[in-house]
Amino acid sequence: MPVDNYEDDSDNKDDAGSAGPNRKFSDFDCPGCSANNPVGDSFGDGDELTCHYCGSNFAVKVTDEGRLKLKEM
Ligand SMILES: [Zn+2]
Repeated sequence: MPVDNYEDDSDNKDDAGSAGPNRKFSDFDCPGCSANNPVGDSFGDGDELTCHYCGSNFAVKVTDEGRLKLKEM
């Protein structure tokens, strides 16, 4: 993977437009126990998730850059 292209992606606002706050996800890594949880229905900003391994509940936040953030409830 060319390093130059990777750096362009992080600086280029136009590229970020394809993965904005409306991005949907189909799995997540639990911040509490690090387990990977597949989710049958896709989820996105404002949804709530439960880790099937440790039982923790998380509120989903998707940043303007399309990055997934989980806040323990
Ligand atoms: Zn967990």
